[in-house]
Amino acid sequence: MSTGPGSRVGRGAPTSLQTKVLSVGWAVAFLVLVGGGILFILSLGDRNDLAAATDTFVEEQRVADRIQRAVLRQIASTSLLPTGDVGRTRSELRESSDEVYGQIRRYLFLDLSPAQRLQLEEMAEEHQRLEVAGARTTDLIERGLLAEAEASRDAVALHAFRLLDKMETFLQMRENDLDTLRDRQGATVQALLAGMAVVALLFVLGTLLLVWVLNRRVGRPFQELALASERIAGGDLDVRLPPGADLESRIVTAGFNRMAESLRRTTSELEDRNRELTETLATLHDAQAELVQSEKLSAVGRMTAGLAHELNNPLASVLGYGQLMADHLDGRPTVDAHELKPFIDLLLDEAVRAQHLIRNFLRFSRKSEATLAPVPLRDPLEVATTLRGYSFQQAGLELRVEEVPDVSVRADPEMLQSVVLNLVNNAFDALSPAGKGALTIRGEKAGRSVRLLFEDDGPGLDRPDRVFDPFFTTKSVGEGTGLGLTVVHRLVSLFGGTVRAENRPEGGARFMLTLPVSAPRVEPEGPEVEKAEAADPPGEGMTALDEAGPGGSLGPRILVVEDEAPLRDLQERLLDRLNAEVWTATNVDEARVVLAEKEVDIVLSDVKMPGESGMALYRWVVESRPELAESFLFVTGDVSDPELVALAERRPELFIHKPFDIADYLARVSELMGSSANGRGE
Ligand code: ADP
Repeated sequence: MSTGPGSRVGRGAPTSLQTKVLSVGWAVAFLVLVGGGILFILSLGDRNDLAAATDTFVEEQRVADRIQRAVLRQIASTSLLPTGDVGRTRSELRESSDEVYGQIRRYLFLDLSPAQRLQLEEMAEEHQRLEVAGARTTDLIERGLLAEAEASRDAVALHAFRLLDKMETFLQMRENDLDTLRDRQGATVQALLAGMAVVALLFVLGTLLLVWVLNRRVGRPFQELALASERIAGGDLDVRLPPGADLESRIVTAGFNRMAESLRRTTSELEDRNRELTETLATLHDAQAELVQSEKLSAVGRMTAGLAHELNNPLASVLGYGQLMADHLDGRPTVDAHELKPFIDLLLDEAVRAQHLIRNFLRFSRKSEATLAPVPLRDPLEVATTLRGYSFQQAGLELRVEEVPDVSVRADPEMLQSVVLNLVNNAFDALSPAGKGALTIRGEKAGRSVRLLFEDDGPGLDRPDRVFDPFFTTKSVGEGTGLGLTVVHRLVSLFGGTVRAENRPEGGARFMLTLPVSAPRVEPEGPEVEKAEAADPPGEGMTALDEAGPGGSLGPRILVVEDEAPLRDLQERLLDRLNAEVWTATNVDEARVVLAEKEVDIVLSDVKMPGESGMALYRWVVESRPELAESFLFVTGDVSDPELVALAERRPELFIHKPFDIADYLARVSELMGSSANGRGE
């Protein structure tokens, strides 16, 4: 077998193996038939000849018996003379003589050899002499010549014996013929047996030839084919078969070689494709990681505003209370000694809150490989509400987390966070144009899994079947990448879970995550993130610090609009230093009520608050209370609202930025007091 490609040897046009086998078969059959036929015919002729010769010989014996009996009767008739009746003897002699002639004549019709014919003629002559001697004997007796008759009677006996003797010889010659025939028959049988042996030999040889041909032309090529196939299976794709001698094996080997060649080509193509795929996979893997990261970064971007707000508030408290305490230590008794401890507690609480915010933010934005571990299901939801709750509030939306089972799921904490934030952000985008609506997150156990449902009452999904497709987005260019849900899908699959999107019958979209439950809830390390509301003093809302009520002091009348209780409290205290009458409101609606009911000289307002923003209040003041427009100050940490940023650039005097320095704060308010006092004095 050759192993190199292109090692096929060309020969003349091959004969079909079928033709060859048929030829050998026909030849053997022909020889067997012809040989057998000849032998059969030969043996048939000889057998017939022998049977006929045997029958004839039996008949010849019978004729000989009859001749013998007739001759004996002639001897007996003459021996009775001279006493017997001469006439009767004569007629008996004639009858016997006729019998002998008749019988000898029957021999004449036989197929005789010349010697036998001569012998027969001698028998006839001998009988003639016998007949003559018999007639002479009767004549002599009639004539009474008894002595001569006696001699003649002896002559009869003599000729009779000679005749019988000749007949014996004749029969012997005939028997010899029969023996010869028998010998020939025996020889024929032997030849037949030998012929049959030859035919049998031919048959055996023919069969052997056939087996040899089949083995050489079929068996061996098939063995080679099997070996070559095994080598191909073992990975040796260069193996080729030499062209066979027969048409069939040529077809088979050519087919095999073609198959091996195409296998080699396909394998090498597959190897190339595989290499390309591996490279593409690696690129895709990188791209996917980039995608996850960029989606995360985009979520980080969206959270920055909320974070800044969340962070600025505790920072403002820390700075404010810190300065109050510093003043106290510097010997400026702005606060009573007994108030210091609650200040310090508040300050520490705010610092811890800021620390948690930053930790969560960093945890989320840090790039990391997927590390599957038990993650308490409630954690990412808490982080999402902390980081995005404010934006929802600002946009007049609700972000509710209801009954979530206290279980852990197997996931990567940061990635699960990313999944939750993506779904929350999408709901926010869907709800915010209408400025109303809610996203409700709830969970339920389902066997060894847990289902987490994100249901909103927004406009619902345009194409629920396509939302997970990469780059499917209904958002305008620059607003949506169409990759958020693709990443969600990939990450959830990575956790061994599923995600489904559908429209709720009552309106809005529903995303259903199914995640495998990992282990009982593991308590997160460190203290809980402090909720801003927890620090709110009881009875918040519209309050007047000065129990003496407005009018009991000649200081400026200031309205502080701030949703964060500690900051409200701090500002009240600071403004107290300026001997101001302070009214507080936690939102724009309350502020309007105060402005409608009370006389206010200065308005200090936060911007991002539940419900309407500080900008809305400012616009209302400009429109409805223009005399207050110049006494309006924004106290804000918001850096995301483009309208606000533009205003801050245009009118920086309108802004006190959180976290503020107390001295600055008091200076800015004092400035306004100067101008508004003028107004008040008028
Ligand atoms: P992107 O937000 O950048 O468009 P996503 O893959 O996150 O990409 O979302 C794909 C699309 O799915 C969105 O453009 C939007 O049409 C639709 N979608 C996602 N969430 C909601 C939802 N809560 N309500 C309505 N449509 C949604």
